[in-house]
Amino acid sequence: MKLTFPNRGREWIRRARSLGAKRLEQRLRTETSNELASNHNGSGIATEHVVRKRRVLVVAPHMDDEVIGPGGTLALHREAGSDIRVVFCGAGATPEEDRVRKAEARAVAQLMNFRHVRFLDYPDGNFSLHEDALARELARELAPQAEDDPEIIFCPFPADHHRDHTAASVATALAIETSGYSGEVWAYEVWSTLWPNTLVDISRVSEIKREAISLHASQTAGLHYVDGALGFNRFRAHGTPGTFAEAFYVCTAEKFCSLAAHMNRI
Ligand SMILES: [Zn+2]
Repeated sequence: MKLTFPNRGREWIRRARSLGAKRLEQRLRTETSNELASNHNGSGIATEHVVRKRRVLVVAPHMDDEVIGPGGTLALHREAGSDIRVVFCGAGATPEEDRVRKAEARAVAQLMNFRHVRFLDYPDGNFSLHEDALARELARELAPQAEDDPEIIFCPFPADHHRDHTAASVATALAIETSGYSGEVWAYEVWSTLWPNTLVDISRVSEIKREAISLHASQTAGLHYVDGALGFNRFRAHGTPGTFAEAFYVCTAEKFCSLAAHMNRI
């Protein structure tokens, strides 16, 4: 018997594909909550965020992600007097590269007035093999201690395209669960886009971001990292009054864990 599908030619395929995308969008919309649908500029993106003095912890997979991602917003936090600590998950690929990259990261920390940087030294490219151990280390950073527990965590988005970034994001979610951290999470983007609900105008501090990325000289040699990152921020400023903007998905710790678990299931 020959099966036939009357009236279901190309149009049906197009609609089926479109429905698939819509379903995915609906699921993500449910997970990322309705704040994306209700906003003053209709895009679901808050563009008037004010950075206030807070205790900040940055989870950076590699030595440069801390500024390529949220560098401008961290410069604004520096101005606001925030206490900023950075945890780098990875080591350099060789002992010499490790030495150079750590020296660069420390120079950036000085420029950006980071109070403390810590290096966890997991092997570049293979964080996913150490996700649980990484989560345990990060949980110690999140544990409520007198005057040191963060109020904001910056970390990669769970659907970041780089496998180390995804692993760092999932490890952060696991660390949040075990530590009982209950502050905000600001998921940032590095060379891949997330679904933003917050834009921060970094126009005034874009030169600081440019300088900070440039200090990671071993990474920018021969690659247009600085122009690439700032070009991306220029794109993110589209439709806003500013020239450069950083995009984030900002949510509660609980929502971030739910989102990370959901992304892992897709
Ligand atoms: Zn990275």
